[in-house]
Amino acid sequence: MTQTLLGAAYTLTTLLGLLVGSFLNVVVHRVPRRESIIHPASHCPHCGHVLRPWENIPVLSWMALRGRCHACGKSIAWRYPALELLSGLLSLVVVWQLGLTWRLLPALVFTWALLALTMIDLETHLLPDRLTKPGMLAGLLLNGSALFWPGLALVTPLDALLGIIIGYGSLWLLSTVYYRIAGRHGMGGGDLKLLGMIGAWLGWQAVFLTLFIAALGGGLVALGFLLRGKGRDYAMPFGPYLALGGWLMLLWPQAILSGYLHLLGS
Ligand SMILES: [Zn+2]
Repeated sequence: MTQTLLGAAYTLTTLLGLLVGSFLNVVVHRVPRRESIIHPASHCPHCGHVLRPWENIPVLSWMALRGRCHACGKSIAWRYPALELLSGLLSLVVVWQLGLTWRLLPALVFTWALLALTMIDLETHLLPDRLTKPGMLAGLLLNGSALFWPGLALVTPLDALLGIIIGYGSLWLLSTVYYRIAGRHGMGGGDLKLLGMIGAWLGWQAVFLTLFIAALGGGLVALGFLLRGKGRDYAMPFGPYLALGGWLMLLWPQAILSGYLHLLGS
């Protein structure tokens, strides 16, 4: 493939990621509030001013308006352009890793879904059923499409189905055991559904290493909180770590598997 074509693909995917990031801001803001993500149009949360097209360009508008609403002058949180930038950046990493293949499309959608779920969990400590349940179904349908045409699917339909069962089931087992021992809930039901969703997209084989990465990442951060004297009762959302684990398994399954085996062996 020529350099020019690849360069164009990288640029277009990054721009698409920025635009989708703008939409993800709407999803992250409205889904936990049970609002429609289509109506009304994007508006200022302070004064209701409806954004005109030039005020709705990812990152650039925020910079041009110096982080303030054009109508009322109140400040617009930096996390809006930050999410747009992150979405563009992650999209670039996905196309850089997968190249111009059919699998690029589901990989991007999966990435954006994980990003939205991460932001919502960080803000609200919830993973809404409105996203995780359709997410599971979408993964199953995507990989079920392999029955007709293998181009788009990431894994076989059977692996996807087992992914839901094992993803949901393994966390259900862990959280039940934890509840019996500790007498309190360590995880929310949303975490179970999120791992089920990751299993639906990536297959049951990816579930264990996703969980391993999440436990490792979550454990390290929890240890950091403990060392800095934050209480044991500090409730830490687990969803972002599951999402990170799922995303790494999407792009680098082989490297992670060999890294894991290396850890076991040493
Ligand atoms: Zn305003």
